[in-house]
Amino acid sequence: MNADPALIELVARACRVLGKLDITHAAFGHVSCRLGDSDTMLIKGKGPDEVGLRYTRASDILTVDFNADKVAGAEGLQPPSESYLHLWMYKKNPQVRSVIHVHPEYAVLLTVCGKEVLPIYGAYAPGARMAVEGIPTFQRSITIHDDQLGEQFAAFMGDKQAALMRGHGVTVVGSSVEDATVRVMALNHLVSMNYKAHLLGSPQTIPDEDIAEYRRPERAARTRGSAGGEAGMLASWKYYCSLAGEDSA
Ligand SMILES: [Zn+2]
Repeated sequence: MNADPALIELVARACRVLGKLDITHAAFGHVSCRLGDSDTMLIKGKGPDEVGLRYTRASDILTVDFNADKVAGAEGLQPPSESYLHLWMYKKNPQVRSVIHVHPEYAVLLTVCGKEVLPIYGAYAPGARMAVEGIPTFQRSITIHDDQLGEQFAAFMGDKQAALMRGHGVTVVGSSVEDATVRVMALNHLVSMNYKAHLLGSPQTIPDEDIAEYRRPERAARTRGSAGGEAGMLASWKYYCSLAGEDSA
């Protein structure tokens, strides 16, 4: 299946946004997007010609099939070894449209010290709902570089939208590239706040009645100006694009 140039640019832009906002250690990490219902995805290539996440151009994005083989893309680039992490998430969960795997410092530090991500804030920032649902930690620290590890990791994730990976990083999924990007930003803030709270002392979770409130499905329409749901997600996407000096179109 031929990839839409606009979708290729969107994947490249999401890479640049995460790179410019320092969400991952050094140059590493990947944003992927499934192409329709085909067994192919878009993902940034690796190799001698590779660039770091913040410098990603559309020409750095490859089309890769679910055998982790390159279908289309630049000569000097190959599918990343962690293509297996991405493709197995798509194989196991047809509703997943985008996967992001990055190495945020605070997330890794929490897993190193065995500290749980707690629901420590509510209306202060996005991520409260994610924390209430719980964020599991995958206990292996190696790259997900083959089918066996990919299948194992996808089974571990199940239908969760976010997970930590001990001594390694995080993985999130989304219904679109924008959705996954906004989710990884929320997760990054959540782990940063947890890290700092653990440094300060003994974090307390939000009240039980508020935890119960966050367990209820999010209201589709709100009576006043706060845009939740899809509209809120897209507003956040535009905000992060602007913050990174990127066009959100
Ligand atoms: Zn990794």
